[in-house]
Amino acid sequence: MHEKQKEDSSNAAGHRRPYHARLAGFDKPRPNAPRHGGQKKTHRAHAHARPMPRMRPMRPFAQKAPLSKIPPLGDSLRIIPLGGVEEIGRNMTAIEYKNDIIVVDAGLQFKEEGTPGVDYILPNTKYLEERIGKIRGLFITHGHLDHIGGIPYLMPRIGNPPIYSRQFGAIMIQKRQEEFPHLPPLNIKVLGKEETVHISDTMSIKTFPISHTIPDSMGLIIKTSIGEIVFVEDVRVDNVDGVPTEEENRQYERFKDKEVLLLTMDSTSIEKRGFSLSEGKVIENIEKIIRATKGRMIISTFASQVERIIGIIKIAERLGKKVAVEGRSMKTNLEIIRSLKLLETKNIISLGEIDDYPPDRVLLFVTGQQGEEFAALSRIANKTHKNIRLRPSDTIILSSSIIPTNYNAIVKLKDNLYRSGAHIITYLDSDVHASGHGNREELKWIHQHINYRFFMPVHGYHNLLCQHAELAHSLGAPRENIVIPDNGSLIEIDPTGKKISVRKEKAPSGLVLVDGFSVGDVQEVVIRDRQMLAQDGMFVIIANVSISSGRLKKSPDIISRGFVYLRESQDLLQQTRLIIKKTVEDITVGMRPIDFELVKDRVTDTISKFLLQKTAKRPIVIPVIIGA
Ligand SMILES: [Zn+2]
Repeated sequence: MHEKQKEDSSNAAGHRRPYHARLAGFDKPRPNAPRHGGQKKTHRAHAHARPMPRMRPMRPFAQKAPLSKIPPLGDSLRIIPLGGVEEIGRNMTAIEYKNDIIVVDAGLQFKEEGTPGVDYILPNTKYLEERIGKIRGLFITHGHLDHIGGIPYLMPRIGNPPIYSRQFGAIMIQKRQEEFPHLPPLNIKVLGKEETVHISDTMSIKTFPISHTIPDSMGLIIKTSIGEIVFVEDVRVDNVDGVPTEEENRQYERFKDKEVLLLTMDSTSIEKRGFSLSEGKVIENIEKIIRATKGRMIISTFASQVERIIGIIKIAERLGKKVAVEGRSMKTNLEIIRSLKLLETKNIISLGEIDDYPPDRVLLFVTGQQGEEFAALSRIANKTHKNIRLRPSDTIILSSSIIPTNYNAIVKLKDNLYRSGAHIITYLDSDVHASGHGNREELKWIHQHINYRFFMPVHGYHNLLCQHAELAHSLGAPRENIVIPDNGSLIEIDPTGKKISVRKEKAPSGLVLVDGFSVGDVQEVVIRDRQMLAQDGMFVIIANVSISSGRLKKSPDIISRGFVYLRESQDLLQQTRLIIKKTVEDITVGMRPIDFELVKDRVTDTISKFLLQKTAKRPIVIPVIIGA
């Protein structure tokens, strides 16, 4: 779901991420971000951190499901959702039949609350890695990051198969790959609107266009000897006041009188009733606002809303306004739009030129309407932007909805915007935003236009998938013909095409995290430490022990971060020092040689208990015992 994309912050000087993490659309910097690696051991200094018993519940990492445990496929058709069916993002599904596997999409998910410091989460591709010789291609349904973002990380793992994509997605993929110059070039095959890719004698794939928010979105018809699977990923139904357009009718006409074996479909907006607002209506409403605006116009939307951006720039041109864009993802997407000649305009100006024109001739596109700290709109709002200062005569349209996890940041952003005195318009008071994910009635309409035997909802949290399954059932699909997958589910259709089932075995589905320069699934300890640090901080004890006498050479040093304010906790510190001294010396006086491991363990235990008793907090206690 494109709307999860973090907007960017290219001009936040000094906050640039490593090159491979600076990608269009989601490079929110984390200054001083913790890097994994844990404590450093130095000569004679013995550092030790022991995981404490309390922690927030976490999903398991890297469940190992050895190849041998998964039964061979035989003549069945197997569908394996590898991501995107327990969350929004990291979409990836594999289809396996006979000797071939094809993969649909390779997305990423932005970090979750439970994974502090992690950049992104990827689908787990172990199942594919174990069957690398069968993979014939990766098919990309459209160019949003939750469908293409995993490519640089995952392609080497699955043997760099050819990538099949329509043109817009292909350029998005290529553009992103430039950020990873150390990787081998991708083999991208650009597909047409309705093109068939012959995989083998028993499998072929046909593309067809569908509506979303980015050009060249497509569905797939995967033909096998058992039957056809229709993949409809992120999708909306273009409509005028709830009546689907002629174009939509024409696109789905192809399924008339056809029996489809399995349908899979986006469930993101199943909870929203009715039809969504049409994109045409949104652009029309924004045009009305632009016409009525006397001063400068600032529009903030997701850079992924490519079709809206094109529409608005065309309006600006018609009304004789110059357009400047700010925000890295927005600039990148504009570049792609222009290189594909989806927009031919001469009215784009640079940010430095905006003051050369009267305010009513200037329209600005900026990223950051979700309140991302370093993104353009936040910097404009808190007056730290290099070129743009708000004036009371400005009009600002926030052309996006609120992503629930960003609620607080958006409140702060809006407060700052209102302080400037500018006129603010949001989707709450005007129809200036529509989602790219079809509401319930749109999904229903698609169900009614495809005659399928089996149904599998995808894309969304488990509860959304269940609601989508209910919708399918209410439209006549028998319950035994509907499967609700989890990440790693092995869904099989028997060779007769009469029965669908979910195996009790599962493909590996543990979290795969991108954390700075490392990609992997074995960083459980690191994440757990970060969670504890975030919750209760850390407490480092440095004690110098005389090897000859076993006594402390001086009172121990204490360093703490995020635990208690030390200056106001002198009593606590004094008591802690005494306990450390006693705990250490009880063991070390008379001990030759000194067992440092034992001393560290004892200090950790004793001090952790003491601090818990005194403060009801459990910081990570790190004793450093130095013998001299
Ligand atoms: Zn999308």
